[in-house]
Parts: sequence; C-alpha cells; structure tokens
Amino acid sequence: MRPMAALRHAPIARAAQFRALAVSCGIGSRETAAKVAAVPPVSKKMAPGVLIGMSESDLQQLALEFGQDKYRGKQLHQLLYKRKIKEIQDLSQVPLAFRNELQEAGWRVGRSPVYKEVTAADGTVKLLLKLEDNRLVETVGIPVEDAKGSVRLTACVSSQVGCPLRCSFCATGKGGFARNLKSHEIVEQVLALEEIFKRRVTNVVFMGMGEPMLNLKEVLEAHRCLNKDIQIGQRMITISTVGVPNTIKRLASHKLQSTLAVSLHAPNQKLREQIVPSAKSYPLDAIMNDCKQYLLETSRRVSFEYTLLAGVNDTVDHAIELAELLHKWGPGYHVNLIPFNPIDGSEYKRPYRKAVLAFSAALESRKVTVSVRQTRGLDASAACGQLRNEFQKVPLLGDANIEESEQVEESELEMAVSS
Ligand code: SF4
Repeated sequence: MRPMAALRHAPIARAAQFRALAVSCGIGSRETAAKVAAVPPVSKKMAPGVLIGMSESDLQQLALEFGQDKYRGKQLHQLLYKRKIKEIQDLSQVPLAFRNELQEAGWRVGRSPVYKEVTAADGTVKLLLKLEDNRLVETVGIPVEDAKGSVRLTACVSSQVGCPLRCSFCATGKGGFARNLKSHEIVEQVLALEEIFKRRVTNVVFMGMGEPMLNLKEVLEAHRCLNKDIQIGQRMITISTVGVPNTIKRLASHKLQSTLAVSLHAPNQKLREQIVPSAKSYPLDAIMNDCKQYLLETSRRVSFEYTLLAGVNDTVDHAIELAELLHKWGPGYHVNLIPFNPIDGSEYKRPYRKAVLAFSAALESRKVTVSVRQTRGLDASAACGQLRNEFQKVPLLGDANIEESEQVEESELEMAVSS
C-alpha cells in the first residue's frame, strides 16, 4: 500500500504525517491546545444541536432560552440520561409547545439507530451504530459476573470512525479513517449498551475504534458527561492510547482520576516501530517519561497494554526486557497481557497458552504486576474493527490526505515529537 511504504522508509515524513493527522484531528495547534485545556462554556445563545452530552446546567440554560422554567432543564436531564428517551416528541413530561419549539429550532436528542447487533456465547454484545452521515461505529458491551454474583458491565467505546494510525495487528487500522466522533456520539454508545443490557454500564474503556488522543477534546467532553451526567465514577473509566506526542501530559494536566492505558506491545523501540508504525514519531523513552508525569500528576497507576503476537514479541527474553524497562522508570505500573485475537488478512498468530503463561511468570518473578486479559466474544468478530469492516468497506482516508500530510515542513516534526 503506497502510504504504508512511504511511512516505512521515511521516518521524517511519517512524523510529519503524524503531525498533520494530529492537526486534522484537532490536537495540533496551540489554539486547539488551549481549547482542550479548558472546555469552553456553553455560549449564551445556544446554536441548535444535540441534547445528549449537555450537562444539567446547559439544559437549564436551554430551557430558559425557550422561555421555560429552569426546572424543565432538570427534567430534560432525567429524561435523556435516566429514561434514555431518543426523540424530542417522546420527552412527554415537558410541554408540547416546548418540544415543538425545540424541534422547529433544529434541536434533536442525538441517538443513532442500532444497525447491527451481534451477541457472543459469553454474553458479549457488539453493536454497530449508524451515525447521521451513515458511517458505522462499533461499540462493545462486556458483562462480567463476579464470585458474589454481581455483574459488572464494561462498555468499550470508539472515539473515531476508523483510525489513521494503522497498527499492524489491528482490524480498525486496516479499515482506514473517516473522522473524529463528536462527544455525544461517544456518550450515546454507552446509552445504547445500557438499553440493550437493561442495566447500568459500570465501567468504560476507550479502547474501541480510533486513537482517543487524536480526538482529545471530544473524549474529554464525553468523559465529563459519562462521569457527571451518567454517573460513572472517574476511576471506572480508562483512556487508552498507542502514544501520540504531547497528549499524555495534556491529559495529565486535567488531573482526572481515570486510568491511562498505554499500548506498548514491545519492550524496545525497534520492535515497537515494527508493530506500531506511528511509534517512529514518539520514542519509547519519551512515552515512559510522559507516563511518569501522568503518575506524578494524578497519582493514578499507568496500565501498559501488551498484545502478545506469536513469535514476534512473546518470548521470555522480551518479558525480561520489558521488566527492565519498567524498573528503569520506577513503580506504579501494571502490565495487561492480551493474547492476539486473529483477524482476517493478518500475518500474526495467537500465541500458545504456554507462551502466555511463561511471559506472565517472567514478569511476575521480576515483581511486575501483571494480568492476562480474557478473550471475550471471539465469535462476535470481537477484534476491534472487524465487525465494521464487514459491513462498511468504503475506503476512509484518501491517498490525497496522506500525500498532503507528507509535505508538512520538517520543523513541524520537531513540534510533533517534542514532549
Ligand atoms: S490499535 Fe488503536 S491506535 Fe492502533 S490502529 Fe487500532 S484503533 Fe488505531
């Protein structure tokens, strides 16, 4: 594939491209950085838009703007987030005239229809939501029952339609990239799963389609809504990243009590670049330094995700090297091992259980806390991006975008990789 070839042979062009993608995804400019640092308040006169994602005070302000009592905003809040009403006209507790005026002004609830629902034997449910522009986005609900019989429901949410980073083992990366999701399009994934499971989502992981750090502004807005409006504890939310220069520190500055999960997948830079092409623009030492800052700023332990690929990164020697890397950067880390989920057209293979156990034991014996993630819902095309690719095969990022991004000046490379 032409873009990939260009990336393989030209690290500077790759980093410049990364920078261009970052800019196109809304994280690249100082101006945008300022917006990320402080989510702007709702303007006095609200432009018509989507109700999902709005806070209670936003909704109260909206009610006042329509000449209603303030408490109508509180009602709207309850109807949207507790009753999960999907259409303006179904907000039947508020006066018909108010509903009509909202609709005439162009307001809508902002819930997308479920295009496809697939349930795996273990209860994992994968949904495809059809967005307003007909793009499909994946979300996964993973129910887990503990020994006492209480059920935890984890929502694995997407932050982009597709992903521009093209990690070599990832079905989403192979499907290309279309656009960032808006915060309400992230929040509605959780509401859709709550409706399907008829229970509350207890945990949210930003580990679905897309790189959350390339859409940090909307991810932070969605995080606010999930925490404050849907009442999911910050500690129950995990934001994952494969590593985007300058964004971990930016996230740390918000001092959220959420977990940062960094997809490492290799114990050294050379192997990492092979598995995660975008790693060329973000050296391992810089990532580890930023993770240390995250720990210092938030007192939250960083989780390192490590996908085990048979014969590539799964030997005991790799585990020893990983332990040495983590010890170099101090305590406060956890390793989450993920045996690779086979995907169509991939040259990678799932490691044998014996290799997974040996890798895990080598880390444990070196005092690294480690867990092995259970594979869930394999029969529901569980690998991230597989289900969407099955139903939407249109290319998402045109070659023109790639070529344009390769022409970014070298000075921008420095900005992209500076921490
Ligand atoms: S693993 Fe994550 S960052 Fe990498 S291509 Fe897939 S979705 Fe994007």
